[in-house]
Amino acid sequence: MSLSVGLNCPACGGAIKVNEGEHVLNCQYCGSTLWAEGDAGVLTVAYKNMQDRDGVLRATEQWWRKGLKARDLRKKGRLLECYPIYLPFWSTVTRVAGWICGYEERTYQDRDGHSHTERIPKEEMVLNDYNYTNIACDPGDLGIKRLRNIGGEASFADFESIPTFESTTSKDDSVNGSKEKALQDARRDAGVPHVTFEKVTIIPKSISQIYYPVWVVRYSYGERMYMATVDGVTGNVLSGRAPGDPLYQSLAVTGGTSLGGLIAAAGLIVGAGSDDGTIMFGGVIVGLVILGVTYMFFRHGSEIIEGDFEDKKMKNPLKDIGIELGGLRI
Ligand SMILES: [Zn+2]
Repeated sequence: MSLSVGLNCPACGGAIKVNEGEHVLNCQYCGSTLWAEGDAGVLTVAYKNMQDRDGVLRATEQWWRKGLKARDLRKKGRLLECYPIYLPFWSTVTRVAGWICGYEERTYQDRDGHSHTERIPKEEMVLNDYNYTNIACDPGDLGIKRLRNIGGEASFADFESIPTFESTTSKDDSVNGSKEKALQDARRDAGVPHVTFEKVTIIPKSISQIYYPVWVVRYSYGERMYMATVDGVTGNVLSGRAPGDPLYQSLAVTGGTSLGGLIAAAGLIVGAGSDDGTIMFGGVIVGLVILGVTYMFFRHGSEIIEGDFEDKKMKNPLKDIGIELGGLRI
């Protein structure tokens, strides 16, 4: 079943009427050249590539210098490839309207030291349009799943010179995925901790397609291969993999291990001299946590990863540990 959604300009969001048999048209609001694809007439815009090879390489070199990447990357990094491609994205607008009701729990202590839990009722009206972009093909190892920027100069002129990836994911899947995501975001925005009643309507308002220019840079450092992608409109680095710096890593390992060991030892010493076993236990736990963080950093710090990669969580070992600790309720 095909979902009925509005035809809107992918560049400015204006509602557009497409006459039968018409494929190329100009948006009456912003003037963008648009392409109406297929019978359903999904409107497609392509943004002009504004970057050249030199600019892309400069952006990559600047990115090499940021963060904990290997300090000799500029010296040892060897460029292997640098080329632009067009990636297709679905752009959706989804409206969520309705009510989310429930309560918030607050605990307080009375004069006698008894704690009481009070339920404060909450009724939140929800009315929001959520705009998402989703890559419409398999992004492979590029680390790009959505767009950070959805503007640019609309033009199909580069289509002859820049390789274009075909859309391989379905429009309906994208609309349905956006509906699920919009509901989750609406619940989060409503901020009702305990939901008892919910009546919301999720309306897919529009879907369009954006072809976006992205530069792929592949380089080597020592024996290993790395990559980066650069936004063809803004010139910003979108995603990438780079070697981590061994010095930063060993510093973190040495510092982390000593600190972890010290705290664990202090916990044992202080704990042994007191009746309270929790101090000893607490010290050992804190020490172990620091050791764990150090280990995660050492293990994953050898590669710096930025972008929408599946294994992106390795990028921030501290956050990872935080999640695990949350699960353990320490
Ligand atoms: Zn427009």
